[in-house]
Amino acid sequence: MKLAARVGEVTPSITLEIAAKAKAMKAEGIEVYSFSAGEPDFDTPEHIKAAAKKALDEGKTKYGAAAGEPALRSAIAQKLKTDNNLDYQAENIIVTNGGKHSLFNLMLALIEVGDEVIIPAPYWLSYPEMVKLASGTPVIVNTANTGYKITPEQLNLAITPKTKLLVLNSPSNPTGVVYTPSEIEAIAEVVVRRNILVVSDEIYEKIIYDEAKHISIASLGKEIGDRTFISSGFAKAYSMTGWRVGYLAGSTEIIKAVSTIQGHSTSNVCTFAQYGAISALQSSQDCVEQMRQAFIERRKVMLHRLNDIPELTCAKPDGAFYMFVNISKTGLTSLEFCKQLLATQQVAAIPGVAFGADDHVRLSYATDMTSIEKGMDRLDKFVSSLR
Ligand code: GLU
Repeated sequence: MKLAARVGEVTPSITLEIAAKAKAMKAEGIEVYSFSAGEPDFDTPEHIKAAAKKALDEGKTKYGAAAGEPALRSAIAQKLKTDNNLDYQAENIIVTNGGKHSLFNLMLALIEVGDEVIIPAPYWLSYPEMVKLASGTPVIVNTANTGYKITPEQLNLAITPKTKLLVLNSPSNPTGVVYTPSEIEAIAEVVVRRNILVVSDEIYEKIIYDEAKHISIASLGKEIGDRTFISSGFAKAYSMTGWRVGYLAGSTEIIKAVSTIQGHSTSNVCTFAQYGAISALQSSQDCVEQMRQAFIERRKVMLHRLNDIPELTCAKPDGAFYMFVNISKTGLTSLEFCKQLLATQQVAAIPGVAFGADDHVRLSYATDMTSIEKGMDRLDKFVSSLR
């Protein structure tokens, strides 16, 4: 069988593969500590589950509009107004099968052969692959020497007549960095001046620490607002990873185009799941804060343990729930490091090569404290064994 060339150009999702492998090992009875996929260990809050159950009981089990339940689209528009100072209406929102799907649909709607998409590295591993699946060309800009943030100068230099889109992700997966408001302003100035578009992946906006502050690039005025698409979802802030509810916000033109794509591919997101999402937005946000507080504690413990291992270095993340750990002193590639760590200590981590940084590994601390403590004991043992 001859597969389409586009499949040969992309790699499978390592985050999902390693997470599945760790889960399979656990199911076999092996004691595994998984720092792999960014998936909060908390159960989805009760009131959100109750709203979805109620929707099921009320017969919200049929096809809905491809773009999403009107009530959810309005609730998302309201959230963007209240939290992010953005003037979107329901018609500026499409509900997608998770945040990932909103990005994928956007690429399909926007990118053509020859179009370049600028992606600062380290990047979330699916961005370049989505660009390739949409027949575009990812242009990777290394930010290892600029604090893992693309500077306005770097962006300006990377733009060519073929550049269509910049992918911005703050708080960032995998590095945990958060752009300051003035850094976002400087990026916006280049985007407007050089006449390109930007997609802002804001899925981690609620998981932010200390003095870091989230602002949406779209909120910095009409000129940049008109060039911005916002991708987000419910998975991270509300621990709803398996529900697959995300969204894209943007001009009515792009939302209509994405709705057409969705109408011929997935149709609407699971109807009753969307009612859970409405409840997530319209109920108390205490659950989000409780989870954030737990992440603060876990971040403290994991960072402390990491910094006790002389071969490893890691900056304190300002957001999301990942440690992006420099392993270059171990002499191993990131893939070798993760393979050996899983085989010898049953600790799952994601190799940095997947994020465009082979001298790093990513550890998720969206897991319980006991697993963090025990997993870090084993990581320590593993690195010691390399001496
Ligand atoms: N976004 C999460 C991660 O990076 C979930 C897995 C995925 O979709 O890649 O771990």
